[in-house]
Amino acid sequence: MRRLRRIGSGAAALLLLAGLATACSSSTNQTASCTVSRNGTPVTSGIPAGPTSTNLSLNPEVATGFRTGMTPVRTGDFAVSTANPVATEAACKVLRDGGTAADALIVAQTVLNLVEPQATGIGGGAFLMYYDNTAKTVDAYDGRETAPAAATPDYLRYISAAVHTVPQPNARASGRSIGVPGVLRLLELAHNEHGRQPWKDLFTPAINLADQGFEISPRMAEQIGESKADLARDDNAKAYFLQSDGSPKTAGTKLTNPAFVKTLSAIATDGPNAFYTGAIAADIVDTTATTSASRTPGLLSLADLQSYQAKKRTAVCSPYRDHQICGMPNPSSGGITVESALGILSNFDLSAMKPTDLSGNGDKARDGGKPTAEAVHLIAEAERLAYADRDKYIADSDFVPLPGNSPDKLLDPNYLKQRAALIDPHKSLGTAKPGDFGPVPVGNGLQQPEHGTSHISIVDKYGNAAAMTTTVESAFGSFHFVDGFILNNQLTDFSAEPVDKDGAPVANRLDPGKRPRSSMAPTLVFDRNPDGSRGGLHMVTGSPGGSVIIQFVVKTLVGVLDWGMDPQQAVSMIDFGAANTPTTYLGGEHPAVAAADNGDHDPLVQQLRQEGDQVSVAPQSSGLSALVRDGSGWIGGADPRREGAVLGSPR
Ligand code: GLU
Repeated sequence: MRRLRRIGSGAAALLLLAGLATACSSSTNQTASCTVSRNGTPVTSGIPAGPTSTNLSLNPEVATGFRTGMTPVRTGDFAVSTANPVATEAACKVLRDGGTAADALIVAQTVLNLVEPQATGIGGGAFLMYYDNTAKTVDAYDGRETAPAAATPDYLRYISAAVHTVPQPNARASGRSIGVPGVLRLLELAHNEHGRQPWKDLFTPAINLADQGFEISPRMAEQIGESKADLARDDNAKAYFLQSDGSPKTAGTKLTNPAFVKTLSAIATDGPNAFYTGAIAADIVDTTATTSASRTPGLLSLADLQSYQAKKRTAVCSPYRDHQICGMPNPSSGGITVESALGILSNFDLSAMKPTDLSGNGDKARDGGKPTAEAVHLIAEAERLAYADRDKYIADSDFVPLPGNSPDKLLDPNYLKQRAALIDPHKSLGTAKPGDFGPVPVGNGLQQPEHGTSHISIVDKYGNAAAMTTTVESAFGSFHFVDGFILNNQLTDFSAEPVDKDGAPVANRLDPGKRPRSSMAPTLVFDRNPDGSRGGLHMVTGSPGGSVIIQFVVKTLVGVLDWGMDPQQAVSMIDFGAANTPTTYLGGEHPAVAAADNGDHDPLVQQLRQEGDQVSVAPQSSGLSALVRDGSGWIGGADPRREGAVLGSPR
């Protein structure tokens, strides 16, 4: 039987202190520096048994195993975590040489473009949360792709007003999915405001790597194999990712990318205008417009590229127990939905529901123990309620305002308390209803899959921090490859159907110039002063994973803030949670989940099912990283499900 205990803030404070003590004392051994040492062993390839087509729509990037027993990395005053050790090392060196988090982001992003092109690159978009420790400001940067001016609400579902056939071979792999890339304008804006090193120099590591070559990683190879038929449709992608006989290039193959050397050299010298105007822009437009029997062209124009702007938005910050959580506002749903779930959870005593097997130094403890049925149910229910509001109300607020024209209504503590009261400890809501904010001009949200992303967490020696989640949307984006990089398929994050079943306009419908709703949730956590104001920086985190990002980030925040885990334990912990559907996910790739026979022999799965929850043990593919302040420096954790690594200054 589950009992959900509701608490007041005094108890929460004590429990939080207990949690921090655990986090400090349980960290182990690894002291970091900018060398190639990494936490954990390299990811092993091989897909754990059992993804079904439903799972694949949630996890379109391949699942590539689990590095068990990873240890947290303890650093001095700076630290960086990216999804690949080569990118982490390059970014770490910039920090070591006096660069800021904004400088290191440029290095990490351009190197990741080479070593993790399935997930991220300059042909995609990103959201960045940045803490400036001198000004004590938190800024939210929006480098989300925009829809072309010529796009109509039917752009993704009909070839034209006259031809009501889906774009070929499908919306995602056609030119229709390609939005104006936003990454470089975002990096330019952040660098102008927070950079110290010359823009030009920050491209040198990626230029050298593209020129001298690098090895295809196991995860990249796995994804090339998965995507080979789609990559073969594009001549440039085919030449770069496949062998001459059409088979996929394998792990360990050395790749050079001369086209990317040329592209990056132009951007390094002439700035992002070299990308948004001139020869590279023309190549992007031409590639998007390529007509062939198998690919419907997109309508991106030179004017779309030239007029693109990254935007600075107001960070969404709200209290959670003794901390303040700051996240990304619209057009990402990430910040509001994470904070809405946490706001609901703050009405319950989660610290009394710690996972089992958490203490000690064995693999079970390092992998985050095993959550209880009570906690999984409660957190999944809070997420269902948060996603219900997200699905209906959140879109690009430059086009569709939120209820009350700000995130405040959705995050009002009294409103979230009412939402918390809808949770029954013994019965799932299945599908929760969105809150009622009176007449609003939007219909019901429609589900659409999202996926293909990387997360970067950085703190520099000046105390600044960056959390940036950066994406080409699905793995290898739209499979269009031009001038050495992949073009995104971000527009499929719009609802392809512009109206709901009652004919009411969907908030996340496509409109010209609009940004598709995202779930990316780069997150900064601060201490909270007794008067409620923001204190010092406590944690930097985020993850890829499409709409499931929200669940990955909530689990990690609860792990650190409620359960006293170190960041490695929190990111390693079983990925669990729910969107607004009856299925609760419990990642079967984790060694603590007995995933065979659909989880039938796993005691946690059995307990949840006995209480009526529908449980899936499909493997999850989070790519979390977390850096948590620890007295004299930082402790970092990287996700065992991908290839990431944490490095920083030695202690
Ligand atoms: N396109 C998704 C979003 O913006 C991210 C995809 C992923 O994380 O794999 O939310």
